[in-house]
Amino acid sequence: MTAKIRLYVDQPLGQGQTVPLDRDQAHYLFSVMRLGPGDRVTLFNGRDGEWQAGVTDAGKRGGELTCLSQSRPLMMPPDLWLLFAPIKKARTDFIVEKAAEMGARRILPVQTEHTNSDRIRQDRLQAHAVEAAEQCGGTFVPEVADLVALSTLLSDWPEDRRLMLCDEAEAGAGRALSDAPRGPWAILIGPEGGFSAAERARLHALPFVHVVSLGPRILRADTAAVAAMTLWQQALGDWG
Ligand code: SAM
Repeated sequence: MTAKIRLYVDQPLGQGQTVPLDRDQAHYLFSVMRLGPGDRVTLFNGRDGEWQAGVTDAGKRGGELTCLSQSRPLMMPPDLWLLFAPIKKARTDFIVEKAAEMGARRILPVQTEHTNSDRIRQDRLQAHAVEAAEQCGGTFVPEVADLVALSTLLSDWPEDRRLMLCDEAEAGAGRALSDAPRGPWAILIGPEGGFSAAERARLHALPFVHVVSLGPRILRADTAAVAAMTLWQQALGDWG
């Protein structure tokens, strides 16, 4: 039986491995959730799968868990990156949370010509990805990269990775992912202001770009991110 409380930890996990707890983790497990010695917790670290652990020391300022058995192996999502232009804080948080839940391997906030913000709190967004994995039973946590200019990313683009460009100018054009090959992919979602004419021209000319329409209506960027990941996962990912 797997324990209900699911916790992400940084430490390695393995048979008999002890996991020291910091003050916050101890407070959460022993004061908030009222666990004590002998109680069980489910652990994952994004690398070693999911483990059942027992409380072996419960203190006020720290404690210790000991791994008992692996309950699930590491399940990597498909090799999909989500590139998106950050929008308002709550909606950016939503995009990161949903990307982690829906199976992105990397999340890359990108600065486009019409992007509203020129800074992100990478540590806060990474914590959202961890929380999403904790909640949805994931054993993997996607890395949230620092903000990078879209033009820089495109200049250094990996040769074998295809890019699904969600282009609002194609809304209703019926362009889908049919017959697209499997392999490493990325999805690109533009900002609230959309792509500039120069960005659109550059993107459309790149050999690794597949232009896709997300239906006849213009979606908000957060809706578009979820819709695009659904399309991709259904056609080329691990949902089928
Ligand atoms: N300001 C733009 C306009 O009025 O045309 C809309 C930008 S939209 C809010 C944000 C992003 O979502 C777009 O850059 C695109 O990546 C994606 N998007 C929204 N609706 C789309 C659609 N119907 N087809 C393809 N992409 C779409």
